[in-house]
Amino acid sequence: MKTGMPLRHNIEERTIDDIREYFRPEIFIDYCSACQYYDKIWTCPSYDFQTSKLLEGFQYIYVIGSKLKFDELEGSQKELIETENAEYAANEVYLAARMVLDEKLTGIGDRDKSLSVLLAGRCLVCSRCTREKQLPCIYPEKAHFSLESLGFDVSSICEDILGDKLLWTQDGLPEYLTLVSAVLSHKKLNIQDIYNSLT
Ligand code: SF4
Repeated sequence: MKTGMPLRHNIEERTIDDIREYFRPEIFIDYCSACQYYDKIWTCPSYDFQTSKLLEGFQYIYVIGSKLKFDELEGSQKELIETENAEYAANEVYLAARMVLDEKLTGIGDRDKSLSVLLAGRCLVCSRCTREKQLPCIYPEKAHFSLESLGFDVSSICEDILGDKLLWTQDGLPEYLTLVSAVLSHKKLNIQDIYNSLT
């Protein structure tokens, strides 16, 4: 099913115990230290708490893979990938897709405060996070962590749970990009309801 961006969603349910196999903060949070956003965004490492605390109380995780094929883009997005260099174009398309997806995902969390939403990457709410000035988050109700920022192995989750492979921009645009997000819940949810919220 398509949205404003041609995103196709695949949703898989797992228990929190199942997903712990992919929770390796000692490895993946360490990788974040090489990122330009390390210590620059409140929902990214480093942290003064154990990220495992954020999984406590939840029984289920709904892993969401949202796939966008570059050759399905239309209009200004199509023009962008035809005229700009691959890295720039891929990043712009990623940001546009995140805007669409983040709004839908945060809507799920807003409608049911018992859920926790994990976005498909860093918090994009502010153009510059207040963490850069060591000031508190100004929109804590809008800020969400991501699977990777908590220390999950997203590449393996994508392959093993979603049956998909993350592709990266190297010498040109890859065939597609996949945004991996999640919803944590203390109770079983209806996958079709989540799907409907995303489309
Ligand atoms: S909402 Fe703004 S201040 Fe808060 S974590 Fe996100 S970017 Fe930073």
